[in-house]
Amino acid sequence: MPAKDLTSGPAMRGIFATRIADTKTGAWRQERPVVVAERCVGCSVCTRYCPAGVIYKGCPVVIDYEYCKGCGICTTVCPQEAINMVEEETADATN
Ligand code: SF4
Ligand code: SF4
Repeated sequence: MPAKDLTSGPAMRGIFATRIADTKTGAWRQERPVVVAERCVGCSVCTRYCPAGVIYKGCPVVIDYEYCKGCGICTTVCPQEAINMVEEETADATN
């Protein structure tokens, strides 16, 4: 059954559905996306594709790590190869 046909549960709100649910997913993550500021051109492709809606427009973009799931989609879609996935254990806490 398509999601739009469901009659129970909270209303879906597009790419922001996960964010509105207020489920902090950062603790689940095994890898985090790290933006290479010098490569980012601010095209916002990653912002549009992030399923959690946690990449904020800018140059460079800013990722909200409290809600990022670490899915890696942003890395895949970035035309500038400006986002790298880094193991959480080795990631700089300030990233
Ligand atoms: S897709 Fe890449 S270049 Fe474009 S805004 Fe995102 S990180 Fe920057
Ligand atoms: S790893 Fe996934 S959830 Fe995190 S910023 Fe990238 S696309 Fe969004």
